[in-house]
Amino acid sequence: MLIEEYSLEVFTPPCDPGSERFAAFAWLTVGIGDVLPYLNATLRGATYNAAAPALTWKQGGHGIAFHPFQIAVSNLPDRQAAIEELEGLIRLVNDTWERRAEIEPDQRARQRPGLMEVYKLLPRTSCKACGEASCFLFAGKLVVGQARLDGCPVLGEPAYAEQQARLEEMAWGAD
Ligand code: SF4
Repeated sequence: MLIEEYSLEVFTPPCDPGSERFAAFAWLTVGIGDVLPYLNATLRGATYNAAAPALTWKQGGHGIAFHPFQIAVSNLPDRQAAIEELEGLIRLVNDTWERRAEIEPDQRARQRPGLMEVYKLLPRTSCKACGEASCFLFAGKLVVGQARLDGCPVLGEPAYAEQQARLEEMAWGAD
C-alpha cells in the first residue's frame, strides 16, 4: 500500500471567511507524484499539469487536487465528511498504484473544453429532455462537471453520432 498514513487539516477557505463549508488537506508522508499520470489516464475530466506536478478533478460537488505530498478537497460540510472524502481518495490513489501495470500512464495536459466549444457540439434543439431549459444551460453544467454527457438523450440519436464522439473525446467529469 502506497499511502498508509496522513495528517488531516480542515479549515475555512481564506477566500470565503465565515463560510459554513470547509476545505481539507491530507498531508502525506510518501510522495504520490508518480501516481498522477496513472490517475490522469483513468479519471474522466481530470486536468493534469506535469510541470507542477498536480492533477485537479471534480467529483460529488468537490474540487479535488492531488499534489506529490498533499491531497486537497473543497466544499465539505464538516470534519467527518472531510475524513470520509479524503480516505476515499487515498483508496483511489492506492488502488490505482496497485493496478499501474495494467494502465498506460498519460502525461498529457488535458484542458477542460470551453463552454462555446461544447455548446456548438450539442443538438441545440433546446428540447429540455435533459432537464435544462436550453442546450446552452446544459453545456454550462457539462463544463463544470455538474452534468454528464448521457444526460442528453438526443445525442444518442444516429444523426448526432459525430458530435457525440467529439464530445466524448473531450471527456470531462460529472457529479
Ligand atoms: S436534452 Fe440535449 S438537445 Fe435537449 S435541451 Fe438538453 S442538451 Fe439540448
